[in-house]
Amino acid sequence: MSSSPRVDLASVAVVDNHCHAVEARQDADAADWPAYFTESPDPGMRGRDAGTTAFYRRLIRAMADFYGVAADTATVLEARARLGTDELVARLFADARIGGVVVDTGYPAPEAAMAGEAFDRASGAGRVSLLRLELLFQQLVAENDTWPALVDVVRHTLTDVRGSGFAGFKSIVAYRTGLAVERWAAGDVETSFRAARAEVEATGAVRLGHKPLLDTLLHLAFAAAAEQELPVQFHVGYGDPDVDLRRASPLELRAVFEEHDYRAMPVVLLHGCWPYTREGAYLASVYGNAHLDLSYAIPFLSMGEMRSMTRAALGVAPLTKLMFSSDGARVPELHWMGARDGRSVLSAALGELVADGDLGVDEATRAGERILRDNAAALYGVEVTR
Ligand SMILES: [Zn+2]
Repeated sequence: MSSSPRVDLASVAVVDNHCHAVEARQDADAADWPAYFTESPDPGMRGRDAGTTAFYRRLIRAMADFYGVAADTATVLEARARLGTDELVARLFADARIGGVVVDTGYPAPEAAMAGEAFDRASGAGRVSLLRLELLFQQLVAENDTWPALVDVVRHTLTDVRGSGFAGFKSIVAYRTGLAVERWAAGDVETSFRAARAEVEATGAVRLGHKPLLDTLLHLAFAAAAEQELPVQFHVGYGDPDVDLRRASPLELRAVFEEHDYRAMPVVLLHGCWPYTREGAYLASVYGNAHLDLSYAIPFLSMGEMRSMTRAALGVAPLTKLMFSSDGARVPELHWMGARDGRSVLSAALGELVADGDLGVDEATRAGERILRDNAAALYGVEVTR
């Protein structure tokens, strides 16, 4: 492997095809900091173990290099704290050459997030936003007390999604009722809707764990997406323990891929589907509308595991169907690390393909540009500024 030809992607700007806003206040201290880098809700994990992963140790060393200080959490955070939020975002996004972002607006909550215009000024990156479907549905279920009224308002709201300021949808159905989105009989949907409404009446809100209802609302959104040729991102695989990982395999989406009427709806399988990367890459190799996102900050992985994920994807999927992301959220270090590590891992994995005779050097370089930048720029219509 040491003799792999070098595929140089250092000067290629990235379009981060799946990430989140950063928080307006960037003032974490050494006790809080590791908790930004785990999906575990367990207090012991957040306070102690999260600081011992391969990802976290690499992050602290990268931050130490960036600031020119010693590689321990307290020292790097002291250097970091000398920058305000705007300057922190500006320096990290410029250093990582992030030229465009596709932002899932569903997390963190808008009250905690840096405002869009301030983020655009600081990041210097082109931006488009995605509409989080389950949040919209929850709000509309709370506001409509009959099923026909709800269907009308959902259809109406999703008639012109780009005109409403969004470049696509994001679904977290994997976190709610699983990726096997089904068709349901009218009676089942009505019963499910009434259960959701009872929850609204009891608590003032609803968490959409009602499968016949959520599946049926998603089908309304998929029809709108197919009609408007709008990309739909699905959370797949790795997440906090709210996700039942057995039901979060991309293979569960078979019925959606098999629906002929949805062929014009680009589906983006997020997070490299890790640990189901081979399954996701397979789907991207057989369904024309399946795309695989390769995410390099979350899941929180070692370089070697990210190399395996990238090898599995490059091993079978067309190079036009893969897209880089960080899944960065809350702190800009995740967007920064994702871009740096994604470039480096992709460059190494493509170098292996050259060494094996799969690709020529020029083809490998072109593949890197596509995966880091061009495939996502074209799919979401995001402007690349670097
Ligand atoms: Zn995400």
